[in-house]
Amino acid sequence: MTSLDYDGEGDGNKPEHAYDVDVEPQKTREKLQRLEREGMHVRKDADQRKVMEEVFDRATLLAVEELVSRKDLADLKGVINSGKEARVYLGVRPDGSPVAVKIYLTATSEFRRRLGYISGDIRFARVPSNSRAIIYLWTRKEFKNLQLAGDAGIRVPTPVAFYRNILVMEFVGDPPERAPTLAESEVDEDDYDWTFRMISILRAKANLVHADLSEYNIFKWRSERILFDMGSAVLLSHPQAKEFLRRDITNMVRFFKKRGIFKRDAESWLEALE
Ligand code: ATP
Ligand code: MN
Repeated sequence: MTSLDYDGEGDGNKPEHAYDVDVEPQKTREKLQRLEREGMHVRKDADQRKVMEEVFDRATLLAVEELVSRKDLADLKGVINSGKEARVYLGVRPDGSPVAVKIYLTATSEFRRRLGYISGDIRFARVPSNSRAIIYLWTRKEFKNLQLAGDAGIRVPTPVAFYRNILVMEFVGDPPERAPTLAESEVDEDDYDWTFRMISILRAKANLVHADLSEYNIFKWRSERILFDMGSAVLLSHPQAKEFLRRDITNMVRFFKKRGIFKRDAESWLEALE
């Protein structure tokens, strides 16, 4: 991340060239490939090539172009994280402000696992059968979940836009460095209280269960904690909502216990929340 030439000021002082971005897939492809080489998380050989093909498939390049032409995005600056299922980039908007750009890999086999978090959610009456459509739906779902959580007063990265398998949201951190997660931070009782209050509000006000909650999906940044990675989150009416809630709570109780903070066990939290 340190080698990135981030130059967005975030102060509205838009550089002259900010709108003047590449508008052909080939240029976008070259751009992404360059960022990939510069990135710190580059994988090796065959594995690397496979991921490159997934990220840089033509439909994804065109989707980047579409976001650019809609002025939701001006440029991509570098790789923040390369996971199995998604790649996260530092991007800039036309006004120069930084954004996180999460690109879901369309060729991953992981999409089957996602089905269980889509079917059963009454927001998605018809569940698509092809993998690309599932991933587009997943992206939309994450965007909507961020909106719902934000509307309920939970601090999440503010969603900016989405298109196909690409989600644009507020960048949390000091670009090009992302914020540390709870896993990477010292934690205290306030973090504990925040976490369980957040779970409770998410449930009571947004009607949501995160369903992938852990110390890796909460940022601790300056005086704030910020919940993220909301693609899995389901409505309470989902048949497995309770099971997911139990797992979320168990993960957080276990994490804080490991760090020497314990107030009540997971079952007791579950009862308290009901
Ligand atoms: P992984 O499987 O690698 O955890 P994921 O599919 O769970 O990826 P996320 O957890 O949403 O995806 O994002 C992966 C990483 O990207 C985060 O751990 C964080 O480092 C970075 N990241 C995600 N969202 C943002 C954001 N809004 N601002 C800054 N960095 C972000
Ligand atoms: Mn995650």
